[in-house]
Amino acid sequence: MMGLTLRAVLAALLCLTFIGSAPAQPLQDNASIAPSAQESIAPTAPSLADLDLLIEDDDAQIPSLDQSDIIDLAALGAFLVLALLSFWKKSKVLKLATMVTSVIYMGFVKGNLVSLVHIFGLVELSFPIFKYNVSWYLLIFFTIVSTGLWGRLYCGRVCAFGALTQLMDQIIPSRFRYELPRRYEQRAVYVKYILLAGSVGYFLFSGDKFIYKYVEPFWMFTLTGTTVMWTMLTLLLLTTVFIRNFYCRYLCSVGSALGLLSNLSIFRIKRWKQCNTCKLCEKACEWGAIQGPKILVSECVRCDDCEILYSDDKKCVHWLMLKKNSLKRAAAAII
Ligand code: SF4
Ligand code: SF4
Ligand code: SF4
Repeated sequence: MMGLTLRAVLAALLCLTFIGSAPAQPLQDNASIAPSAQESIAPTAPSLADLDLLIEDDDAQIPSLDQSDIIDLAALGAFLVLALLSFWKKSKVLKLATMVTSVIYMGFVKGNLVSLVHIFGLVELSFPIFKYNVSWYLLIFFTIVSTGLWGRLYCGRVCAFGALTQLMDQIIPSRFRYELPRRYEQRAVYVKYILLAGSVGYFLFSGDKFIYKYVEPFWMFTLTGTTVMWTMLTLLLLTTVFIRNFYCRYLCSVGSALGLLSNLSIFRIKRWKQCNTCKLCEKACEWGAIQGPKILVSECVRCDDCEILYSDDKKCVHWLMLKKNSLKRAAAAII
């Protein structure tokens, strides 16, 4: 109980710190889209396509809010509600709908994902001005609060790249799959933390934010990249055919940052005492996030697979044991 309370307080403090420091040094990102045509340009939250501009143009002026921002905010809000509904209902259909919407809307239409650039902004306490970037703040707020509450929910259904690789997983035949031996898997998950530390260290040393292009593939939704970037992406997607969620599990800096925050999460996946010996959920987890009875919260993306098993009275050993014991008691009563 104490641990739960402590995690709740720490998570709340983290969120408040982030929100409270928001407008300290605005990046003025939106305006950078076309500063010279301030009056005629509709302000939009920073997207993947804007990341370069966001980095380059700190001095541009800021356009004012208009109707398109309200529509953008409403659409993002609706999508996040869909993501939450699919999570709360544990519905496979809603989850599939969320992931398809994520790829199309968050990826190709909106082009707005949590990125290393945002982590760089957090490190230097530099954020867009709130009133001109409400949609962006909503996404960041949702990501941080949902991670503090449940863990990497953002990775499980909001991130377009994660959704894309999970959708690939649904159609690629399982005979192509290769599971890394456990001893390599356990070490490989740390690569993403090294990449996060290396990228942040490089940024602090050089001030160069453009490293993000070579560390994360989210730019792909803008369909603009150099030959080197497309080649790296092709290799990454090819590897993903054989090793499930390869980028998310071993390489993603954003995922590693959210994984660290997940250690403070309040509402965790429950376990039965039978989980000490039953391996069903461990085998079902496609993220390598279960080791024996233990859920590795930093690796878990709240995909629902083990939670659906947990409450399945026809498959979960806990419920089967309960049934068996009650049958035994009934038989004993008759005798
Ligand atoms: S690990 Fe990275 S790429 Fe994967 S879902 Fe999370 S943020 Fe997206
Ligand atoms: S199936 Fe049930 S008992 Fe087995 S690991 Fe999953 S939750 Fe635990
Ligand atoms: S199967 Fe369970 S432990 Fe594994 S990622 Fe999904 S929710 Fe997390």
